[in-house]
Amino acid sequence: MDILSSRFITKEKNIHISCPACRREGRFHGFERIDGDSFMRLRVLTDGSLFMYDCPYCGETVRVEAPCLYVDKKRKIAVWNMPDRTFEITPEAVRKETDGETLRLYECRFTRTWGEMREKIVEMESGMDDRLCEIIKYGAYNLVKEEDRRLLPLESYHIDYATDGREPKKLSLVFMRSDKPDEGYIYTITDKLVEVTRDVFQPLIEGVPSLNEKGKFQRFSYDWGQKFIEQVIAAASQKERQEYNRLLGFWIHTLGKELFGMDIKPVDEKNGN
Ligand SMILES: [Zn+2]
Repeated sequence: MDILSSRFITKEKNIHISCPACRREGRFHGFERIDGDSFMRLRVLTDGSLFMYDCPYCGETVRVEAPCLYVDKKRKIAVWNMPDRTFEITPEAVRKETDGETLRLYECRFTRTWGEMREKIVEMESGMDDRLCEIIKYGAYNLVKEEDRRLLPLESYHIDYATDGREPKKLSLVFMRSDKPDEGYIYTITDKLVEVTRDVFQPLIEGVPSLNEKGKFQRFSYDWGQKFIEQVIAAASQKERQEYNRLLGFWIHTLGKELFGMDIKPVDEKNGN
């Protein structure tokens, strides 16, 4: 029997908060652990109010960022939302949080916000490699024109399921508008784009053992995608660089074509755009 199945259950927590609008004290009903192998999974994926505090005094709605460990025993994934940047996720901290379990057979990630946590769960349970998702996310945003970035800010740009039925391996990129908070643009990540991204980047990711340790909480975000690509280019020898440039050019061309129907001509690296 899986030890975690008896130990790891959803644990609720009341958090005292002071309303940023009216300053009055209130109590937010939150979660410090979520069993992703229960009805709570759907709530995390679909219920935006789960992490919102409605101030009973002034009516203001506030997003409450708090630590929460999400474990899905069926899919063997764990995501620890840890807004506190000073908290170090050591093996001891993990054992303490999971009542002795190390999650050593789990793919483990940590995030900084609820939004990032939800997105990470979507990426990981889709069956796609979440690192490839972040690389696609980074590459696609770089194709957004400078003047459009204010309208489509990076902070609200994210990955989501492409269909309401949350079909595996069907993901999309969502660009939310800054002027109309409920409106955005959705672009489906096609099979071809996933395939090309995997061909170009998977061998590079697998070549770095520290990126592939199960049971170790790591953060793979948009910023990670950017750094990874920059490091790959920086580490390449002169001879390899030509080959990487050719591959990256092909990948960027595929990104533009598959996502936005753009025809991007490869440019030399000094040109930049
Ligand atoms: Zn208030």
